Amino acid sequence: MIKKMTEATVRENLKSVWQRIEKASKERPAEFQDVTPRLLAVSKTKPVEDIIEVYNAGQRHFGENYVQELVDKATNPEILEKCKEIRWHFIGHLQNNKINKILPLPNLYIIETVDSEKLASKLNQSWPNFRNSDSKLNVMIQINTSGEEEKNGIKPDEVTNLADFVLNQCPNLRLDGLMTIGMFGYDLSNGPNPDFICLKKCRDEVCEKFKLDWKDLNLSMGMSNDFEHAIAMGSTNVRVGTTIFGVRQKKN
Ligand SMILES: *Cc1c(COP(=O)(O)O)cnc(C)c1O
Repeated sequence: MIKKMTEATVRENLKSVWQRIEKASKERPAEFQDVTPRLLAVSKTKPVEDIIEVYNAGQRHFGENYVQELVDKATNPEILEKCKEIRWHFIGHLQNNKINKILPLPNLYIIETVDSEKLASKLNQSWPNFRNSDSKLNVMIQINTSGEEEKNGIKPDEVTNLADFVLNQCPNLRLDGLMTIGMFGYDLSNGPNPDFICLKKCRDEVCEKFKLDWKDLNLSMGMSNDFEHAIAMGSTNVRVGTTIFGVRQKKN
């Protein structure tokens, strides 16, 4: 059994992550200074009480990567009552047949894991069924920067095609950025993480091809063990779970 974190610990962890983000942001190369990185608190497998505690300490963006768990949490009466400004990020693999479970959820902010034209097209088609016609669904394109077979995401050389599709064929979607998970346990003593270099390169290509300002396209990269390094490499959206909420128990 893993000990449940006390509320005070979770709050202190959050504050320490904020401080580390601020410090890493100040130390970034000048070219990245214009954008403040956003913290995504990844609450998967963690109880509603922890989410409320972290929300009350001022955190607004939360990430989940299992569909049913996000459904349960986003519709939880206590969360609806106490966390009115919560912003949910879906960061797991999204199957086409689960789209209609996710899209109606209150306070859904973004799907970070779009990795095919088919998925983009279905999201684009379904979104108006759940929201006003003038609202757009935020999406990121997930890229498999490490080329590992078990990882989801498109290949880096496919990003301009999928970006083209989202930008030009999906009027109900708003392209918010690019996301990668990358290789686990990369040893930083070998130099800058190649996954982060790759994701930034993808963004530069997309920005150049479609005449976008880089500040308008987020880079979602960096987790508990490397978020400061990711910020140094240009990340604008770090996804931190364990360092805030403590170690997770394995799902069966
Ligand atoms: C679980 C998860 C995280 C958080 O990982 P930690 O190492 O606990 O910070 C970030 N991104 C994704 C996609 C995840 O599934």
